[in-house]
Amino acid sequence: MKAIAGFVVLVLSCHAQSGQRDYPVKPVPFTAVHVNDVFWAPRIETNRTVTIPFAFQKDEETGRVDNFIRAAKALRGETFENHRPPGYPFDDTDVYKVIEGASYTLSVHPDPKLEAYVDGLIERIAAAQESDGYLYTARTIDPLNPHRWAGAQRWVLEGVNSHELYDLGHLYEAAVAHYQATGKRTLLDIALRTANLLDQTFGPGKQAIWPGHQIVEMGLAKLYRATGDVRYLNLAKFMLDSRGPDSKEQGAGNRYVQAHQKVVDQTDAVAGGHAVRAMYMYSGMADVAALTGDMAYVAALDRIWENVAGKKLHVTGGVGARAAGEAFGDDYELPNMSAYNETCAAVGNDYWNHRLFLLHADAKYIDVMERTLYNGLISGVSLDGTTFFYQNPLEATGMASKDQRSPWFGVACCPGNITRFMASVPGYVYAQRGDAMWVNLFVGSTADIKMDNGRTVKMVQETRYPWEGSVKMTVSPDQNAPFTIHVRIPGWARNEPIASDLYRFADKNTDPVVLKVNGKNVPVKPDKGYVTLSQTWKKGDAIELDMPMPIRRVVANDQVAADRGRVAIERGPIVYAAEWVDNPNGKVRNLMLPDSARLTAEFKPELLKGVTVVKGKAVALATDAQGKVLRTEQDFTAIPYYAWANRGKGQMMVWLPTSEANAKPAAYPTVATTAKITVSGRPQHNPEAIHDGEIPAASNDHSSYFDWYPARGNKESVEYTFEKPATVSECGLYWFDDTGQGSVRVPTSWRLLYKDGAEWKQVETTDAFGVEKDRFNKVTFQPVTTGALRVEVTAQPNVSVGIEKWTVK
Ligand SMILES: [Zn+2]
Repeated sequence: MKAIAGFVVLVLSCHAQSGQRDYPVKPVPFTAVHVNDVFWAPRIETNRTVTIPFAFQKDEETGRVDNFIRAAKALRGETFENHRPPGYPFDDTDVYKVIEGASYTLSVHPDPKLEAYVDGLIERIAAAQESDGYLYTARTIDPLNPHRWAGAQRWVLEGVNSHELYDLGHLYEAAVAHYQATGKRTLLDIALRTANLLDQTFGPGKQAIWPGHQIVEMGLAKLYRATGDVRYLNLAKFMLDSRGPDSKEQGAGNRYVQAHQKVVDQTDAVAGGHAVRAMYMYSGMADVAALTGDMAYVAALDRIWENVAGKKLHVTGGVGARAAGEAFGDDYELPNMSAYNETCAAVGNDYWNHRLFLLHADAKYIDVMERTLYNGLISGVSLDGTTFFYQNPLEATGMASKDQRSPWFGVACCPGNITRFMASVPGYVYAQRGDAMWVNLFVGSTADIKMDNGRTVKMVQETRYPWEGSVKMTVSPDQNAPFTIHVRIPGWARNEPIASDLYRFADKNTDPVVLKVNGKNVPVKPDKGYVTLSQTWKKGDAIELDMPMPIRRVVANDQVAADRGRVAIERGPIVYAAEWVDNPNGKVRNLMLPDSARLTAEFKPELLKGVTVVKGKAVALATDAQGKVLRTEQDFTAIPYYAWANRGKGQMMVWLPTSEANAKPAAYPTVATTAKITVSGRPQHNPEAIHDGEIPAASNDHSSYFDWYPARGNKESVEYTFEKPATVSECGLYWFDDTGQGSVRVPTSWRLLYKDGAEWKQVETTDAFGVEKDRFNKVTFQPVTTGALRVEVTAQPNVSVGIEKWTVK
């Protein structure tokens, strides 16, 4: 309650100064912070020169730009060929998001060619807008046959999946960014026409509405800030207050879209609730709370934050544990292999935590933001800026399609989000209010900070963060003046990974953080995560911060079943992962890391664009022919988690077992594990999974399996070709079946053949060819000496068929 009382005072003081109520603490805009470090500067440049042009090219190649052109032709009554609506009703946003990212780069890096290209896109968007302001190509292209998610009339399915307001939310974000970058009103005017249509249609005494996929609230808040027109703010609040179980909208009561309760009554990131929608809603609520002073919103956000930071945050900062519904799981449901952790949810998590910092001036939010930023967010884009992860799991077999980065996606939300987020990273470094400044992130940079008190302060940071923990800051106010600098001491340097009991360090770091001002030691006793330095500052004053960066082992709360008996490795803000390519035999899932294993850090300038690796000895486990577990001590290397899957596909693991009880020994090589695999059809999954020697937990174990999805009701086959002819007499088939989640089921029947010369012959057996779930279906047959075996399966009608494992003896 104390924090909330403080908030009121902050809001009022801010209100009195600027005339418009807003966040009590203001971010120093990214345009004022010039990054020149080894870590972020190259990433921001790759985003500008590679990812943004690449994403625009993909928007064109995939018809997303063409959707606007076709909608414009429909409006002009021109004939055109293809009347099919977009692939998804939110495809428009992929264009808006990259315009937003491009606008941010234009703000700091003039580029007439890029600006002209964006102008051209805006002309196309303008032409696709209906005369009353409505803008949504999924309907306009062919109003009588709109996209099937769009509904027969405007807005009627908004509470579920039409995404009309989602499209507009991204339009508003892009429009304000473009206006601020170029001073041009072209996109802003398009946005305001749509917002005015919303205001005419919806609100108290008019129709009610709320978005099935949130973001329009944040967008409207930006329109309000850009124009001062309070109708947009009122609309954002109206939409937030309209959602809930008593609403008349489609989707009322639905937890998937956070409509299970009124927003002010919500207490947690509800299980089954879509994670990106949740993060965007909480960010929008924070904006509306800041702009209106609504304390009920703040109280709800504080409760929800306690739930997420205490029970639903992966150690990488990833959120949204479940693939089903791209959703939050239950408390402590934080799986590793199947962790979904959408890149967009990480972006949303940082939007939200940054906003909560601006409300509360507490570094615990920056700790979550930084953890996400350096780990589970930038893992979403490859080091070269051209391939992306949609999901960010914490363990991989290398066998699943999701274990490989992709240049684009059918649902392409994540790449666009990367373009806009990366370009704005410098905006998270500093904040200020009145005569106080906050140093939140440690990034080599030069900043010109305009303080509320009228002072301009040049701040220079020199550091090799995140690889080294020493930071030199030079403070140069335009004239000698008293003010306050709050220097963040990160949770990782205070023996507190985040401000909850979800994670803790296994050891205690006793090396002290040292802070000096002009060479004199200052006591490091952080309050809300900051050391407060109040004095008269003069040009060239030096703040030196030295944070020891030992390698730390992190353990999770015992209620997180997936992490029991395991540790994660961290150093500074970086979470580490063991990846196949750096470890013997290309395997890491058979490793255990005893607590006694000594680890060392080493910076490798040539590796993965320059990373500090963690090295030591681990124990590799393997099963011998008799089933006995063998232990081999071997070299161990871990890389920053964000950098995995930049060197091909293979095993990866963040949480390492500390004892044999939790470890997974590598299987003893058999005729099956060494066989070459051939499968029928053109399946999307890697068939290698079926002979990796692992024992599935159940038929719906998604860790490493193979299926013929999306082919349905078909006959398929898989063959093992042995290294040399072998005498075999037994097979085991463990079927994959994802009843309840997908459309793969056990087959109706199967048979087993062996190769005799050029001929395939059935094995001789009286055993039944079983199709039971959750076990090996074993068939013993007359021994044959053969070079190859074949399994033929017949799928049930209208579903696919798949195999977890196929063993041979
Ligand atoms: Zn996404």
